[in-house]
Amino acid sequence: MTITLASVIASSRRIVFFGGAGVSTESGIPDFRSAAGLYATASGSRTPEYMLSDDCLWDEPETFWEFHRRHLIHPEARPNAAHRALAALEASGVLTAVVTQNIDGLHQSAGSRTVHELHGSVHRNHCLGCGRPMPLDEVLATTGVPRCPVCGAMVRADVVLYGESLDPAVADAAVRAIEDADTLIVGGTSLNVYPAAGFALRYPGERLVLINQSPTLFDRRAALLVREPIGRALAPWDPGPADAEPVTGN
Ligand code: ZN
Repeated sequence: MTITLASVIASSRRIVFFGGAGVSTESGIPDFRSAAGLYATASGSRTPEYMLSDDCLWDEPETFWEFHRRHLIHPEARPNAAHRALAALEASGVLTAVVTQNIDGLHQSAGSRTVHELHGSVHRNHCLGCGRPMPLDEVLATTGVPRCPVCGAMVRADVVLYGESLDPAVADAAVRAIEDADTLIVGGTSLNVYPAAGFALRYPGERLVLINQSPTLFDRRAALLVREPIGRALAPWDPGPADAEPVTGN
C-alpha cells in the first residue's frame, strides 16, 4: 500500500505544518541567510550573523535598519500556493497550526489564523522608549532609523535577532501544537539550523512528512518524503489566489 501526501492528509485530524525559508522563496523572498551573505560580502568585515544581531541594532542602528529594510521587508510579496493550501486545510478543520521560522507574515496574508512565528514578524515593531507599537506601514513611511512619533526613541522590529532568545510563550505554544499533532508536515527547511531540529524532535507520532528538495537529517524518521517544491506538493489543496485582501471573517 502506497502512502501519498493525499492519503496522509485525508486520514489526519490534527496536522501541524512546520515551515522554513523554502516556503517563502516561491513568493520571491530569498532566504535571509543568503541575502545576509551577499550583503556581508559587500560590507567588508561584517558577518551575516552580525547584520542580524542585537549588537548591530544597538551599535550601528543605521546599518541594521538599512539591511532590515532592504532584505527582510518585502511588502510586495504575496502568498503562494503553499500558504494558500495551508490556510485552506486549517479552514477545513484538519490543520491545527502553522509553526514558521519566517518573519514575512505571508501565512496570515493567506488566511491562516493559528500561526506560531518562532522568529517574530517584520509586521510588528515597537518603540524601545515607551513601548508604543509601530505598524509596518508607519515604518515604511520613514527613512533611516525609524523613531517613535511620541517619544522620539528608536523603534525596533519584533524579530528574534542573533544574540536573542526565542519568545518562551511562542516556543511553548509551538511545542504544545507539535506534541498534540497526529501528523507533522515539515516543509521548506533542511532542519539543519537550530532550533528547527529541536522542534521537529518534539513530534511524538509516526506520521512525519518531509517536503524538501534536498535530503535532511530527518529523512530516516519520515513516513513520507516528498522531493518537490513546496508549492507544487501542496497545489492540490490550493484554492487559488484571491483577488481581494485576505478574508478575515465568515
Ligand atoms: Zn516611544
